[in-house]
Amino acid sequence: MADTIRTEVKKEVAAIKKQGGNICFAAVVVGNNPASLLYVDKKKKACEEVGIEMQVFSLKCSEDRAKGDIVIENAGGEDFHHLQNELNMLLDKLSKDKKINGVLLQLPLPLGLDARKAISFIAPEKDVDGLTEQNFGKLATEQDGLVPCTALGILHILKTSGVDVAGKNVVVVGRSNIVGKPVSLLLLKENATVTVCHSKTGNLTEHTKKADVVIAAAGCPNLIRSHMVKQGVAVIDVGINRTEKGLVGDVDFNEVSRKASLITPVPGGVGPLTIAFLLKNIITCFRMQNFG
Ligand code: NDP
Repeated sequence: MADTIRTEVKKEVAAIKKQGGNICFAAVVVGNNPASLLYVDKKKKACEEVGIEMQVFSLKCSEDRAKGDIVIENAGGEDFHHLQNELNMLLDKLSKDKKINGVLLQLPLPLGLDARKAISFIAPEKDVDGLTEQNFGKLATEQDGLVPCTALGILHILKTSGVDVAGKNVVVVGRSNIVGKPVSLLLLKENATVTVCHSKTGNLTEHTKKADVVIAAAGCPNLIRSHMVKQGVAVIDVGINRTEKGLVGDVDFNEVSRKASLITPVPGGVGPLTIAFLLKNIITCFRMQNFG
């Protein structure tokens, strides 16, 4: 599925270039969290493959701890304010740069930095991750705007696999702004009956057992087990968890795949679709800026 989208994007980029256009995308990364650097690298490779220029802007932290847990010394103190300011100004500058079509802030930010504040400096028409208040508001009120890539990828997998969510019980595990909330809103728009669960949900199994579709986006290895789902359930595993056994999702794949009519693996499931929809969102940004 991701290949098909990338091929479409590649053709669109070629057509834009033929008319003398150039698509340029900027990513900002703070600190040196290995996972963040890996994701930025993957995005860069994907852009190169389809002919989109990608520029990476790195901001250094005062202290980067081993094991990737980045901690800013004296969070809340002078260093913190300086770095937050530098980040806000960089996002503002990129948003105003006519040569840049899309701007992404790689999350999570190191502890002590305010992601919400930083995101408010991204121009809505360049917000490839769909995280600004303007785009989020549009999604919530069913207006056209930029939608978070993972949410788009999840819906695409369901639709392409023939899972019609209209009238179905869909349980989304996770309520983050980047995955849980936007995918819940997209599913509501598709007429699903959506239940959103989170860490304070009393009895998760009570909800997942009734679900025709489970979307697991909690960041908890093997949270969803076979006794928690019904026969024939469609399961989208969004989780990416680094364990001693390597990368695993939020779903116990071996157990749940025996009951599921559809299940996405980790790695190789939602991840590639997220990147493919990022490329699509970059093109959408370019078109909005050039053709209104
Ligand atoms: P967040 O940590 O921001 O959110 C996790 C959500 O899961 C929260 O709402 C939290 O509840 C909820 N949660 C945590 N533990 C439980 C539990 N035991 N039971 C029920 N709910 C729980 O994570 P993200 O949304 O950013 O990411 C979720 C996962 O998806 C991560 O593993 C991440 O790496 C992965 N991911 C994968 C992508 C892909 O392309 N495949 C893209 C983006 C993320 P509460 O709100 O109460 O804290």
